[in-house]
Amino acid sequence: MRSEYDIIIIGAGVVGCMTARWLSRYALRILLVERSSDVCTGATAANSAVVHAGYHAVPGTLKAEMNIKANPMWDLLSEELQFGFARTGAYIVAVGEEERPKLDMFLDRAQKNGTPAQIISAKEMRRREPGLNSEVSGALFVPAGGICDPWGATIAAAENAVMNGVELRLGTEFKDFLWSGEEARRIVGIRTNQGRFTSRWVINAAGLFADEVMHKAGVRPEFRITPRRGEYFVMDRHQIQVQNVLFPVPTAVSKGILVTPTLHGNTLVGPNAENIEDKTDMDVTPEGMNEIWDGGRKLVPGLDRRHVIAVFAGLRPAGNAPCLNPDVNYHHDFVIDIPEEVKGFVNLGGMESPALTAAPAIAERVIGMLRDAGETMAPKTDWNPIRPARPVFRHLTHEKQAVLVAEDPRYGRVVCRCEYVTEGEIVAEIHAPIPATTYDAIKRRTWLGTGRCLGGFDMPRVVDILARELGKDPLEISKKGHGSEFLFRRTKEAG
Ligand SMILES: Cc1cc2nc3c(=O)[nH]c(=O)nc-3n(C[C@H](O)[C@H](O)[C@H](O)COP(=O)(O)OP(=O)(O)OC[C@H]3O[C@@H](n4cnc5c(N)ncnc54)[C@H](O)[C@@H]3O)c2cc1C
Repeated sequence: MRSEYDIIIIGAGVVGCMTARWLSRYALRILLVERSSDVCTGATAANSAVVHAGYHAVPGTLKAEMNIKANPMWDLLSEELQFGFARTGAYIVAVGEEERPKLDMFLDRAQKNGTPAQIISAKEMRRREPGLNSEVSGALFVPAGGICDPWGATIAAAENAVMNGVELRLGTEFKDFLWSGEEARRIVGIRTNQGRFTSRWVINAAGLFADEVMHKAGVRPEFRITPRRGEYFVMDRHQIQVQNVLFPVPTAVSKGILVTPTLHGNTLVGPNAENIEDKTDMDVTPEGMNEIWDGGRKLVPGLDRRHVIAVFAGLRPAGNAPCLNPDVNYHHDFVIDIPEEVKGFVNLGGMESPALTAAPAIAERVIGMLRDAGETMAPKTDWNPIRPARPVFRHLTHEKQAVLVAEDPRYGRVVCRCEYVTEGEIVAEIHAPIPATTYDAIKRRTWLGTGRCLGGFDMPRVVDILARELGKDPLEISKKGHGSEFLFRRTKEAG
């Protein structure tokens, strides 16, 4: 690996990985650094997985603009990168007559943002989703809404970037900037725990930590990111609870507690919204669990808590940047700019919802900004937009499964019984363009360990397979990197 680049990107969440993938079209030396042991471990790892249509975002904000631009990009993106996405449509459901007028406000927002939407009657809404609260007074239907696999999308974007020449350094933590000795306030690289890397541009895509990165650049000292926790219930996929993406009427701070199917067939209930101090605190709380349960049951009273199989929390990187449009009084907009006071720095901050949706448009915006700043963006002639997905055994016909097993008997050994994931799939991920080297990395790529037993059956087998394929001692195999090893000593020698 070299140490001199044209562009360094800090952070391999959805924003950093989409930006890397977009930049990989051009003849540039690009480095993507991520402090975790894998891509997609920050805010992108735990969210509602909704590709928003654009009716929530305040018109005139960057959030609205990026959301509306990005939403139609997801069809081609998911085809090229071969990850899960479905354009399901989405609903805001009003419960009780007092909520009904708010649907008109969101219809107006949708129209101003330019996304088609229609109000449907309570009767029609209950026909579409029979389990809804009998006090439903109407709903807003937005056909452009969708659901995606955020892990799949981010990993696929990163893989496609790597296939096209981007270098990815995991376990590499940005510490500070390198400055030019000759020119005032020009960034010429970064210092990390793995050494120094020089570049003409550094892109800040550090999610929850983007404020700390920009302060080190001397930019926007007033900008703060508050971690806003959102907690969820995941329900067993054998007990289908709803057919549609159902949002409540939003609150002042969030889109509210939704009830939605996932692409993997589970039902997701959440999130709430609580501002906290600690950017690493992903714990769920008893109070939060009760809050989301009440919120979910407000829409779908028949939700059955006996079918909850997992709980988790995500942290929104909620920023306090004012909207640049002087006509809009709004203080939580995205930051997407090249600050004037520093040279060589692209600043992406405040990437809370809908940044998962917006990430492809943000990446495209970064290309435009670099071009406007005089960067020569020479397209490569051999850029390949396709990231071939690896076989997912449970999705194949019996005939195709038989062919795969005949070619490689490891596809005939089921390791995760709940989600039906085979040894062949695990091995393929360990040897993929971005090798999966931990249990959670395998989980994000194969969906193993997400079913009813939450990995109880598969974990020892996965530790064994990882150790064998990576040529490591099982004691070295971890859940998510150093410090989370599963085993701490041998109790007996193998016979
Ligand atoms: C509860 C919840 C629900 C949401 N629902 C939706 C939704 O339905 N639809 C939607 O569009 N959006 C949604 N979002 C928002 C979306 O998940 C985030 O906006 C998006 O994932 C942010 O991506 P990111 O790449 O900016 O940040 P991250 O995914 O956090 O990536 C930043 C990366 O930078 C790395 N990093 C940080 N500091 C350093 C450093 N010093 N050195 C090296 N690496 C560093 C981190 O480890 C991390 O991997 C939701 C968010 C939450 C929390």
